[in-house]
Amino acid sequence: MTAPRTPGAALRLSGLSKRYAGTAAVDRVDLDVASGEFITLLGPSGSGKTTTLSMIAGFTAPSDGSVVCDGDEITAVPPHRRGLGMVFQNYSLFPHLNVRENVEFPLRQRGVAKPQRVKRALAALELVELGARANAKPGELSGGQQQRVALARALVFEPRLLLMDEPFGALDRALRERLQIELRRLHRELGITVVFVTHDQEEALTLSDRIAVFNQGRIEQVGTPEELYAQPETLFVSQFIGESNAIRGDVSDGVFFGPDGIRAPAPATADGSAIAIIRPERIAINGTPSAAACALAGSVTDLTFLGAQRRMEIATAAGPLIVRTGVESGAPGIGGDVTLSWSPEHAAVFSDPSHHAEKSNPWTETLAPSTSDSPM
Ligand code: ADP
Repeated sequence: MTAPRTPGAALRLSGLSKRYAGTAAVDRVDLDVASGEFITLLGPSGSGKTTTLSMIAGFTAPSDGSVVCDGDEITAVPPHRRGLGMVFQNYSLFPHLNVRENVEFPLRQRGVAKPQRVKRALAALELVELGARANAKPGELSGGQQQRVALARALVFEPRLLLMDEPFGALDRALRERLQIELRRLHRELGITVVFVTHDQEEALTLSDRIAVFNQGRIEQVGTPEELYAQPETLFVSQFIGESNAIRGDVSDGVFFGPDGIRAPAPATADGSAIAIIRPERIAINGTPSAAACALAGSVTDLTFLGAQRRMEIATAAGPLIVRTGVESGAPGIGGDVTLSWSPEHAAVFSDPSHHAEKSNPWTETLAPSTSDSPM
């Protein structure tokens, strides 16, 4: 199992929708996944990720649209005939079978003879570095080890497409990071196509070739981690991916005007009430701003040392702003007065959706700087 027999499957979702009692859980999703690609469906809880994955797996019948795998429409093919590997958050191993027998299980279902089954199960366990625990019962293993067994079981029949739904969600951070590294190695070695679901943007950024950002049943943007971070197309994406500062203001004639003389170039589509998004690392502290720069006075309210960086919260006339600086630059302490500055073109300007909403709007809740792995 060290090299792929065949390249990973290519997947195409077209107009894929699922309605429950008239409400769209997934709303006209189009997505092309290339052979061998690692793609992540990322979004807050309830945004339609699991339902989409379940339609790819065949457990949920779409209300509309199609699933095409390598050119063959499989929308109505039952799950067991799709030949997909699957790993979920709860490992669902059989407690009475040992580790090797658990991994053999999909091969037994496929009628593979015993000697071949054992050989392939042991090879799959080697792949996840659990060859030495083949005779253990699942209950004797840690959560991380059990999840690796589940992964071996999903890979043992050499599927061309692997579906994973929050597989590391129940594990602590250190373990999750180790398994993420292992999964990336496996993905590289096997050339398999992976569709991975998570609400954790850091996990998505770490693992993925591309990320599809879900919001309210729809895909807001698909792109590489770098594209989503540097060129978010919507306010939602700019706030869901990475840390960001939001400054409220107004747009007229293609220019954003915020408090204290803050300005930024605005797209033609924005007009009236708007929000400028600026990344924490784009803001300089006590620099020598050019004449064109935005400059803002503030005072430090919080300071965190992050190893290579310092993260500061600064109270300003535009609200609290987060700034990240290198540790080599001298930093004022809490309560210190600072001047912040940035180039106007580093701000991304979006129309303010809450301005048009009649009642409570989920967008406004995400306006506060978000912590990286809080489930939303
Ligand atoms: P996510 O995986 O992003 O958390 P889901 O795909 O699980 O989101 O759910 C999307 C929406 O569909 C949610 O509002 C959820 O309540 C709804 N939903 C999911 N499954 C069902 C179901 N079987 N019956 C009714 N509503 C459902």
